[in-house]
Amino acid sequence: MGAGRFAPSPSGELHLGNLRTAILAWLFARSTNREFLMRVEDLDRARAGAEAIQLSDLNAIGVTWDGPVTRQSQRLPLYTAAVSQLRDRGLLYECFCTRRDIAEAASAPHAAPGIYPGTCRNLTESERAAKRDLRPAAWRLRTQEDTFTVTDVLHGPYTGTVDDFVVLRSDGVPAYNLAVVVDDAAQGIDQVVRGDDLLSSSPRQGYLAGLLGHEPPTYAHVQLALNAAGKRLAKRDGAVTLGQLAAAGTDNATARALILYSLGLPSASLDDALEAFDPAQLPTHPWVFTTDRDGAHGMRIRPENR
Ligand code: GLU
Repeated sequence: MGAGRFAPSPSGELHLGNLRTAILAWLFARSTNREFLMRVEDLDRARAGAEAIQLSDLNAIGVTWDGPVTRQSQRLPLYTAAVSQLRDRGLLYECFCTRRDIAEAASAPHAAPGIYPGTCRNLTESERAAKRDLRPAAWRLRTQEDTFTVTDVLHGPYTGTVDDFVVLRSDGVPAYNLAVVVDDAAQGIDQVVRGDDLLSSSPRQGYLAGLLGHEPPTYAHVQLALNAAGKRLAKRDGAVTLGQLAAAGTDNATARALILYSLGLPSASLDDALEAFDPAQLPTHPWVFTTDRDGAHGMRIRPENR
């Protein structure tokens, strides 16, 4: 039996778009008889109190998980071991670039946006020694491929760029791309359902999984909820968290029903939705959720309404 998961970063409260992704992850896992795990990605951007609210909001809409919650901050030895293994195999190099160095190199003619241009890949040992005196190094993967193809249930085979991405940040914190791969493999996760803002990261992660000797998971990158302006839904968009909605008179069951309705599923309960769930029937158009601070809300899910 494999497993799926939801892996929130405890940076603030979850909004309806995040809760919708969590429900989808739960539906995908439960409908394929997988376990469903909850992992808090608190290496970065953790805000005091956010984790407790996120987990209680997930429970409040009926999302339950198997076993204890795991936290990345409690799993550092796993990431360190993976970094050491890669370093020992000669697959990593030190990078001394600042954000500004990378931005400047990326603005050069012919540079590909969002792709590390390889500035530090071929430094000599004496160049590296000189740079070490100036600033701490990040560690990047010395990739042997430019692209990698992953399997996505909703997008089909997806081929994307694999550049020399960071696996250990210069402040010593494992990079998200490393931690997520190590954790998914260590936890037996073979189904990754998350927002499609991470689709373009999945080839890097699938490639790294292979280097570490793991089969990449199957992905389902789901559409993010949008606001009235067609941009990714965010907290400033009005009443979008369970707390805000409750204060405006929309209870948790209604919030869940809105989400299920937006997915074209029966909205009385998660179990009813599970019975009807079929990934092939999910709407192919984004969910536009509009709301104001008084809690009046509306939605569009069909293209003719856009
Ligand atoms: N922690 C990431 C986020 O909240 C999700 C990572 C993942 O699902 O792989 O955006």
